[in-house]
Amino acid sequence: MTNRLGNGQVSTMMRNDKYITKCPNCGEKVKWTYTDRGTKVAIDLTLVAIQQNIKGGAAIITPDGKLVIGSLAMAGAKDSIQGYTSHASTCRNRRRV
Ligand SMILES: [Zn+2]
Repeated sequence: MTNRLGNGQVSTMMRNDKYITKCPNCGEKVKWTYTDRGTKVAIDLTLVAIQQNIKGGAAIITPDGKLVIGSLAMAGAKDSIQGYTSHASTCRNRRRV
């Protein structure tokens, strides 16, 4: 495959290989990704919006790997950030390993 970025470098985006698998606990489809701190996390496939605040009960991983804690918001809401919900917080059959 030809790389047409023009700078001779292969995009590092490819390095952050996300792949889809099934959650071993609930069978839901999840995608594995890494936070910017290198932690491997399972995320849900649906993009959600969140308003950042410390009291929020939701955690999302933004597309660039930042973990954001806050409250779920309407898509496009003021000051909302889009990202993917950590599957650990939505898994309906969560258990300790
Ligand atoms: Zn699950």
